[in-house]
Amino acid sequence: MEVAIVVFTRDLRVHDNPALTSAVARARQVVPLFVVDPALAVPQNRARFLADSLAALRAGLRDLGGDLVIRRGDPVAEVIALATLTNAEAVFIAGDASRYAGHRQQRLNRECATHRIALEVTPGHAVVPPGDLRPAGGDHYRVFTPYWRAWQAAAWRQPCLVPSAVRVPAGISPGDLPGTGKRAPEREATVLLAGGERAGLDRSQAWLDGPLKEYDDQRDNLAGDQTSRLSAYLRFGCVSALALAREARHRPDGAQFCRQLAWRDFFYQVTAAFPDIAAVDYRPTAAGPRQWSAGAEYLDALDAWRAGRTGIPIVDAGLRQLAAEGFMHNRARMITASFLTRTLGIDWRHGYRHFGDLLADGDVASNAGNWQWVAGTGNNPRPGRVLSPLRQAARFDPDGDYVRRYVPELASLAAPDIHAPWKLPEARRRQLRYPPPLTAEYLAS
Ligand SMILES: Cc1cc2nc3c(=O)[nH]c(=O)nc-3n(C[C@H](O)[C@H](O)[C@H](O)COP(=O)(O)OP(=O)(O)OC[C@H]3O[C@@H](n4cnc5c(N)ncnc54)[C@H](O)[C@@H]3O)c2cc1C
Repeated sequence: MEVAIVVFTRDLRVHDNPALTSAVARARQVVPLFVVDPALAVPQNRARFLADSLAALRAGLRDLGGDLVIRRGDPVAEVIALATLTNAEAVFIAGDASRYAGHRQQRLNRECATHRIALEVTPGHAVVPPGDLRPAGGDHYRVFTPYWRAWQAAAWRQPCLVPSAVRVPAGISPGDLPGTGKRAPEREATVLLAGGERAGLDRSQAWLDGPLKEYDDQRDNLAGDQTSRLSAYLRFGCVSALALAREARHRPDGAQFCRQLAWRDFFYQVTAAFPDIAAVDYRPTAAGPRQWSAGAEYLDALDAWRAGRTGIPIVDAGLRQLAAEGFMHNRARMITASFLTRTLGIDWRHGYRHFGDLLADGDVASNAGNWQWVAGTGNNPRPGRVLSPLRQAARFDPDGDYVRRYVPELASLAAPDIHAPWKLPEARRRQLRYPPPLTAEYLAS
């Protein structure tokens, strides 16, 4: 065929990009397109990461002789307008799982059919795409362990080669890269990783050649901060999850790392089957949806939680890391989420939204899936499990260095006092200017 359009969404890379490679193989000329969709209000930290990633993608495509065309508006209308302008015969796009992406794909399907344009939906976001694995008698896996077994045994596709050249039809204005929108300092991390394919690939390589070999030992060490920090690169597809998993799987500790990538795929397949995951309890109780705290006190507690001023140091450290870095260590995500939902009894949707507003890796499936998992409304086979912040702190931040890094008021304290400052003598406590714990049970303990 003469012309095809490749729609980039959150697969912002030229390596292992099935939509791009298939389009280049099938059409003489391609239009790589990204549509800035005003219906998706992208919070500031992700907007910055996205802006970097689009600039890097444009540079990567220009290195191949092509370009990235940027348009603003309804993605379906923009695709059809560009297809009409260039007489494109086909549109290539990576399939995605969220309710919004599913709806966009259905509309694209209808409009392409009306305009007699072929629509090719390719894999691209996951190692094993949603729908590829199904348990006997079900449409998706509800429990992780059997999914993990099936995931490891699945035949993964081969990574796609980077096209040797990308030829764009003449006369198309490339359009401007998006900026980062109106800035609100209280919603912006001061330390944020730079987005983009080159940055993601460099980080992956350094990770694979270095700390990966100690992953199993180190991944819950809060102060050690020894996880890959590839989540935002995976979220925006600057790094291919499949290529990364293939590189990691046979290295020491690679299987444990792949297990985390399988969690990511697990929640995609849950989301594809249950697209309301960000709004509705996946597993309501027999009596219906769970009841959460209501009334004015809970709003104060929620504000204190968001601000990292609950008076529980390990919880506050996690929330302050999130505010400062647009990132939070996985163990801290679990502790802070459990504290909000299980200890304070506050609806997980508030936590989901707060994380979604600040995380550079914020992703509907992983964010909502994990929140529901911790809250006991999702895929956790032990839905009653509550994490004690004090036991978690003793185990995963034994010297208090994680708390010391993010809660400077407590930096002068040694462990174990740093994790329970309410036990200090009154005069010492007052000097710290750190709030008392929100919940009475800690004062008693
Ligand atoms: C309440 C809560 C909310 C979360 N929200 C998100 C989110 O919005 N986006 C997101 O990418 N992750 C989310 N996670 C999962 C996990 O915390 C992060 O993926 C991880 O901390 C990112 O750090 P890393 O890249 O160094 O991870 P590593 O430990 O190096 O893991 C490698 C990759 O595996 C994937 N991964 C690891 N753990 C999980 C998991 N539990 N669920 C899904 N994928 C996983 C991520 O893509 C991660 O980059 C959430 C976890 C919790 C408990």
